[in-house]
Amino acid sequence: MEIKKSKVLIIGSGPAGYTAAIYASRADLKPVLYTGMEPGGQLTTTTEVDNFPGYPDGVDGPTMMVELQKQAERFGTDVRIGLVTQVTFSNSEGGIHKVTVDSNKEIEAESIIISTGATAKYLGIPSEERLKGGGVSACAVCDGFFYKGQDVAIVGGGDTAAEEATYLANICKKVTMLVRKDHMRASKAMQHRVNAKENIDLRYNSEIDEVLGDQVVEGLRIVNNQTGEKEEIPITGLFIAIGHIPNTQPFENLLPLDSNGYLIPENGSQVQTAIPGVYVAGDCADHVYRQAITAAGMGCQAAIDAERWLAENK
Ligand code: NDP
Repeated sequence: MEIKKSKVLIIGSGPAGYTAAIYASRADLKPVLYTGMEPGGQLTTTTEVDNFPGYPDGVDGPTMMVELQKQAERFGTDVRIGLVTQVTFSNSEGGIHKVTVDSNKEIEAESIIISTGATAKYLGIPSEERLKGGGVSACAVCDGFFYKGQDVAIVGGGDTAAEEATYLANICKKVTMLVRKDHMRASKAMQHRVNAKENIDLRYNSEIDEVLGDQVVEGLRIVNNQTGEKEEIPITGLFIAIGHIPNTQPFENLLPLDSNGYLIPENGSQVQTAIPGVYVAGDCADHVYRQAITAAGMGCQAAIDAERWLAENK
């Protein structure tokens, strides 16, 4: 039978959501977790995860997310497939919040943990799509190590691209950085770091025409958007760093968002929002670290805070 009311409603099924679910269910709060459109979140689009503590031999992203789900269910989390489309927060202290799922189901919640994640932007060309998981990645910190000593490329001219290019330059033999304009958007400090690396080949006015390779990335055909000149370069890894979109649309005008759409925690907390009993965790509120382990940590904090808040107020 469908529970129409939940003490803790968790929105999102990445490491933040499942960790919150593990803690909330072990505290006997019987959480309901809605998975969103992409059950398991961004990690389901990665291959090997080598940096999550406790997996000495690594684990592939989809397997890790299935294990997290099982762990949450083992303690009684009710995991449901569904997309939260609208939220009406109660204005009264300790009031009941109303959440609409798939535009046609309503569920009431005493407390809510928002862990809806973010979506990496991609270029949208077919060869990039085909080689995702075969050398195309949106996270240098996660996947850079697999290209140790090799030639790679990174696309983007913002702070993320600059930071990830310098990170890759410490591991890889050569990093070709492709910036579509004649200047970078990144802060001057980050640009200095890029310029200080001798093994970063910075190419302005450069875009990707095609990612080359059948099963794995073998190279790039790049085009100079001023001259039209094309060139092929051999690489084994391509990192896309052209920004993320936080999945915070249902909370627009309801909770404070920064200029890029990320939820802003309040009161000196990493996870508390302006509304008592409503918490945030993971990439929807973090554009800096964006790691599975940091998202999991925030999920844990949110669940512990929710438990304390429920004990004091309900
Ligand atoms: P940004 O939106 O700041 O930058 C995106 C970059 O990707 C821009 O250079 C943009 O080019 C380029 N781009 C977008 N679409 C395409 C495309 N289709 N093809 C090629 N290039 C493309 O995203 P970031 O992730 O870099 O940063 C997000 C926020 O996080 C920023 O506020 C940033 O300052 C912050 N941040 C801060 C860090 C720090 O302080 N250490 C580290 C990382 C991020 P164009 O300029 O031409 O639009």
